[in-house]
Amino acid sequence: MHLYGALYFFMDYRIKEHSFLALLAAKKLKVKKVAMVIGKTIHLHNTSTEDFLNNKRWVKHELAHIEQYKKHGLLKFLFLYLWYSIKYGYYNNPLEVEARKAEE
Ligand SMILES: [Zn+2]
Repeated sequence: MHLYGALYFFMDYRIKEHSFLALLAAKKLKVKKVAMVIGKTIHLHNTSTEDFLNNKRWVKHELAHIEQYKKHGLLKFLFLYLWYSIKYGYYNNPLEVEARKAEE
């Protein structure tokens, strides 16, 4: 059980450490640590569940993506994410902009 407040506790999510998909994302984005969401699962690369959960801003960011998946559905989210990434790039992708706003 995580003791990070009601929001995290009641949200339906899973965490997968040593994720191959997150490793690919880390290589693509040229960063050391990665958390990425597919559906309700937060995939981690080069970070532990504990370290991840201790970083509240990071958790809020990834939970925002889970909310986006809920809103759009899996396939539409993935399509939108890909389309926005091509059109705007990673940083200005509206789904990333929204998730960064949720960090505060
Ligand atoms: Zn993000």
